[in-house]
Amino acid sequence: MRKVSLPDGETVPALGQGTWRLGENRNRRAEEIAALREGVAQGLSLIDTAEMYGDGATESFLGEALNGLRDQVFLVSKVYPQNAGRARLTQACEHSLRRLATDRIDLYLLHWRGNIPLGETVLAMQALQTAGKIRHWGVSNLDTADMQELEKAGGTDAATNQILYNLTRRGPEFDLLPWMHERRMPMMAYSPVEQGRLAGKSALKTVAGRLGATPLQVALAWILRNPEAIAIPKAARLDHVRQNRQALDITLSPEDLAELDKAFPAPVRKAPLEML
Ligand code: NAP
Repeated sequence: MRKVSLPDGETVPALGQGTWRLGENRNRRAEEIAALREGVAQGLSLIDTAEMYGDGATESFLGEALNGLRDQVFLVSKVYPQNAGRARLTQACEHSLRRLATDRIDLYLLHWRGNIPLGETVLAMQALQTAGKIRHWGVSNLDTADMQELEKAGGTDAATNQILYNLTRRGPEFDLLPWMHERRMPMMAYSPVEQGRLAGKSALKTVAGRLGATPLQVALAWILRNPEAIAIPKAARLDHVRQNRQALDITLSPEDLAELDKAFPAPVRKAPLEML
């Protein structure tokens, strides 16, 4: 598995697994567990979740699904903004730990910016780190100005910013990704296949046809060509997990990249960071 470095030098898999909507439907549980475990076996061992998903149900699902695999996995969870202050972060983290059936979260993220001052979240995250409850902390859905404010508020040790990024959401390339690059902070790309909607895009179909791949594999390969990108597609099906793993082996040629740039142009001006 190709690795990406966090700012402190620790490496994590470039391709992980998302979990939004997993564990919410009893009838699909067995297949979802099999898909997730197959992904871990294939090296997709960074797992992204959040206290928000299924109101805790997805974390509980993971506690069960990852039974016996905990030490092979880099576990990422996210806290609601309203819980990300001095008064509630410790408790929210304890609840996540209990649901996840573990004693530590590898990377704990502020899910999006709320009303609690960023400096307070930074201090509360650092306290959790000192207590050994989390190994790294970071943020999600923060645009460039928020990242600058986070840095000024003492958050220079944030490990990542998890953002909406794929071929149809290239806005962050204008100033957010360069800002993160200067700080050696990797991007974690969520909804990397635009929740499946990229499958119908004709430029992706053309490139995929040339490579003997699927359009979504090409969409993932396009993100993964960036050595500072971590992609976390969610796949509840075994065949999807296997196809996603194969995306790592796809090399896009200059011709492929030019064709994708034409269909999905890079930004020429600042646009606010999008969220799903
Ligand atoms: P996504 O990963 O872009 O797309 C998931 C959809 O694509 C599912 O319907 C899945 O189908 C399908 N799919 C995946 N691989 C496929 C393949 N090889 N072939 C065909 N279909 C495929 O969307 P997402 O779930 O929104 O984003 C990924 C993860 O990012 C989430 O699960 C979550 O962990 C995280 N996220 C974070 C935020 C945030 O605010 N920080 C927001 C959104 C998402 P099946 O499930 O049927 O396999």
